[in-house]
Amino acid sequence: MNLKTEYFAPANGNMISDFSIYEIGDEHMYTGLETPMKPDAFEISDDEKKERISDLFAQIMDVMGLDLTDDSLRGTPDRVAKMYIEEIFSGLNPDNKPKIALFDNKYQYNQMLVEKNITFYSNCEHHFVPIIGKAHIAYVSSGKVIGLSKLNRIVQYYAKRPQVQERLTNQIAMDLKDILNTEDIAVIIDAKHLCVSSRGVKDDASATVTSYYSGVFNKPHKIAELQNYLNQ
Ligand SMILES: [Zn+2]
Repeated sequence: MNLKTEYFAPANGNMISDFSIYEIGDEHMYTGLETPMKPDAFEISDDEKKERISDLFAQIMDVMGLDLTDDSLRGTPDRVAKMYIEEIFSGLNPDNKPKIALFDNKYQYNQMLVEKNITFYSNCEHHFVPIIGKAHIAYVSSGKVIGLSKLNRIVQYYAKRPQVQERLTNQIAMDLKDILNTEDIAVIIDAKHLCVSSRGVKDDASATVTSYYSGVFNKPHKIAELQNYLNQ
């Protein structure tokens, strides 16, 4: 299994650890790649989900002692429910996966293509507070190319789920390998977790960097070339 999550010390680019999250144990080979979903996740409609989330969120607000008859708070449960299903967690539903068209590589461009600084907003699945970051994607065409905006759309799709950054990185990489039919993929994500900066240890300066390299991107000179592009 050629799946790795590597961590960098962002200041100098030195790897501080390197492990495969798939070597957790025989029975847990793929733990972490798929978002844990119930088998019946889509047996109720989005409208029904919104109704139920609205009711439940109103209960949370009520338990906290908020007055739901107040003009400013009255609409909040509905707004939160709509935002969860239609926006920030819309990537849970495979129906919302972007449709991807590929084109022939008629320019015969056979070097790495880098799409950098793809801004995304996600949410930490442990605290349900935002993860704000940038994704950088590189690939070498195996004969087909993808519209550049589609790379952004794939990042957004996987970001719009309750996430952990390692899984987000690997989900984007695995999907791109599949879509582009190539092993030559690199995904680097540099993100700030509000569960670390706005609460808990309240460290506003730290950032988390994860990466996935496969194919030619396992070669040190290719990693160096990619980092050169990213530093420009
Ligand atoms: Zn968290």
